[in-house]
Amino acid sequence: MPDLNAVAQVVKKHWGYDSFLPLQAEAMTAALSKADSVVVMPTGGGKSLCFQAPAVLCEGLTVVVSPLISLMKDQVDALIDCGVSAGRLDSSQTPEERSETLKHLSDKTLKLLYLSPERLLGAGGVELLRESKIEAIILDEAHCVSMWGHDFRPEYRRLGGLKDIFPNTPIHAYTATATEKVRDDIAEQLQLVSPTMLVGNFDRPNLVYSVERKHKMLEQVIETLNKHRGESGIIYCIRRRDVQDMCDYLNSDGYSAAPYHAGLEPELRKANQEAFINEDVDVIVATVAFGMGIDKSNVRFVIHAGMPKSIEHYQQESGRAGRDRLEADCVLLYSGGDYGTWNRIMQGSEQEGLDISLRKLNEIYDFCTGVTCRHKALVNYFGQEFAPENCGACDICLGNLDTVDGALVIAQKIISCVLRLDQRFGAAYTTQVLVGSREKRILEFGHDTLSTFSILDEFPVRAVRDWVEQLVAQGYLAKTGEFNVLAVSESGRVVLRGDATPKLLKPAEKSSKSKGPKTSKQISENWEGVDKDLFDELRTLRKTIAQRTGAPPYVVFHDTSLRDMARKKPLDRSSFLEMYGVGESKAQKYADEFLPLIRDYVGQKQN
Ligand code: ADP
Ligand code: ZN
Repeated sequence: MPDLNAVAQVVKKHWGYDSFLPLQAEAMTAALSKADSVVVMPTGGGKSLCFQAPAVLCEGLTVVVSPLISLMKDQVDALIDCGVSAGRLDSSQTPEERSETLKHLSDKTLKLLYLSPERLLGAGGVELLRESKIEAIILDEAHCVSMWGHDFRPEYRRLGGLKDIFPNTPIHAYTATATEKVRDDIAEQLQLVSPTMLVGNFDRPNLVYSVERKHKMLEQVIETLNKHRGESGIIYCIRRRDVQDMCDYLNSDGYSAAPYHAGLEPELRKANQEAFINEDVDVIVATVAFGMGIDKSNVRFVIHAGMPKSIEHYQQESGRAGRDRLEADCVLLYSGGDYGTWNRIMQGSEQEGLDISLRKLNEIYDFCTGVTCRHKALVNYFGQEFAPENCGACDICLGNLDTVDGALVIAQKIISCVLRLDQRFGAAYTTQVLVGSREKRILEFGHDTLSTFSILDEFPVRAVRDWVEQLVAQGYLAKTGEFNVLAVSESGRVVLRGDATPKLLKPAEKSSKSKGPKTSKQISENWEGVDKDLFDELRTLRKTIAQRTGAPPYVVFHDTSLRDMARKKPLDRSSFLEMYGVGESKAQKYADEFLPLIRDYVGQKQN
């Protein structure tokens, strides 16, 4: 049986990587041991290598079932580029492409075959496979078999019958979706036999999160765009008309942006998506309709110009940034208005599951107004612990927040008001008392006579309301019971005594950033020693090659590889092979174009 060392050699030879990423070794061991497995790894975790590298070592064929045709095509192109014999069978192929795959299949030279579920379960699919020695069946995006996942596909359920058809073939299910319920359901639906369960860490350390209340939205968007001139990014908007407005504005201001939403003609939509993938346009402005099946690895930023409708959606949409594991910015701009927009959309369209949707809407809003480390908040939401005190990669931990002076006094006023109200009222009502509202209910209860009535009347209602949420998020207040009544916690009492000071954010209208935002350690580390001018020239060359070969630029080389070249400036073939992500096949194909460029560049610099 092939061992892990042999796999490591394959990885070096074909992919040019020197080591494994977390959980890859375990997943490959599971693959080599021929037992079933369920592997959950976050986006960018390196799932594909876990089954591709063992497949190279096996004598027979590894079958990969994937629901996303565009992803399949990218993966097969990338494998061939790495010198691995791979093919696919799906409805988007030309007859020539199909017969090419069938030929390799029948002469038994194929190591990996990618299939859509329809093709596998459709007429002749199973018979076709019976002619080959099937080493393993990989199910990518396996959460699609589960009703509990976010993307259930009824036709995927039929894959449950695979075990009956191929009882002795190991099945490996891969997904980026975490919950235990989904995991167990995948194993059950696929009839896996005592599968090895591997669950990765959900944090995406290379993503730098920041969340801002919208005040001057376009300026806030532009600020991020200017940090990423000439780089690829996605801007998400809630509604189609916002997409169009944003796009028009950006193009008139000299940025390169294209729209994407369900209301555009399919040809135009496809053309815009391809322009983005091929780097003919920098920015795609889109509704959430955009993104499925996009595995462009070098998306350097994702901006949400409106609040997403749940944390799951946020994780997925922001997760499209930085798949190459290099730093990327995720900027979320939100407003109370966005909350209202979603609320109306949900009330208008959903009956079943409305309360779940509304709960999720509240959770994302709490995330936005919260002042807990963003990495921690997200990871905790998905049921994992987050150990670092300071992630160094979010607005909270980088201290880029505009906090109010006098937070202690404000917090004390809020907490005492909760006590004066006998801990029997919710956040909205308490806020009204604090700002001195003369609303009927307040007068009826006689709360206008409390000593805490109107003690925060110099601030806008919205700001006070947010502060209440921020105190809840930090555990000084708790929401209790069916009606979310506010209660003061032990640590809240510590604040009253003046022995702890909460963080409270400045109301957006008055925010003024005196100092520029601090950058994350990711950015400085990943760019360390990189010659940016050379990097730009390498990118241009990569694009030329991509145009010639018809593959997306990131299939030719990831940004990581280009940065390594622009850092170490290899001048000969053997040092070129040392670059991150450069295996033998890529060196063979591309060294003759990249080396002269680097030599020229270095020569020029010396002159
Ligand atoms: P996923 O499918 O889990 O989102 P990918 O398979 O696309 O992740 O891999 C994410 C990135 O990590 C890719 O750029 C890939 O080339 C890179 N990668 C995978 N395995 C390794 C490794 N062992 N060492 C270095 N980089 C790796
Ligand atoms: Zn943090």
